[in-house]
Amino acid sequence: MGMTPAPLARVADPSELDQAKGPRARLRVTIPASWLEQDVSLQIQAPKLLRCTACGGGGCDQCGRSGALQAPAAQAERVLRVSLAARCKLPCAVRLAEPFPGSAIEQLLVQLEPGERASDNVCRVQRRAAQLVWRRQPIAPILLGLALMVMAVVIVMLVWR
Ligand SMILES: [Zn+2]
Repeated sequence: MGMTPAPLARVADPSELDQAKGPRARLRVTIPASWLEQDVSLQIQAPKLLRCTACGGGGCDQCGRSGALQAPAAQAERVLRVSLAARCKLPCAVRLAEPFPGSAIEQLLVQLEPGERASDNVCRVQRRAAQLVWRRQPIAPILLGLALMVMAVVIVMLVWR
């Protein structure tokens, strides 16, 4: 073989994700069902220790018998973004490939469950204002004047032909 496997994050085929042997973790997050009345982007602060999916926390070879997998120590590197379409029904799960840069965790299953209150580590992210607000460039009055003059000339030429 000798081929370097493609980074999982770029793998589009879910069956390849299924077959991947690397460590998998899972994270449960509660959000109110009302958040899914429209498309939503979530920002999730993952904890430092995540439950190992292979053993469900009981301890196995993948997690060194600890039942947990380590996310990066730096808080900023544990921030996840998950986008959900409005048609999603809770509970649902989102699989993230290579969720943390430089971490051994190869896949993270984010399990989203409905609840009255959102978990403390999740919030909704507004899309950047720049994307929503289309800024109207005011037309310079002198340009408007020029355009009117050109139109007037054209009309005059047409009429006096
Ligand atoms: Zn394990």
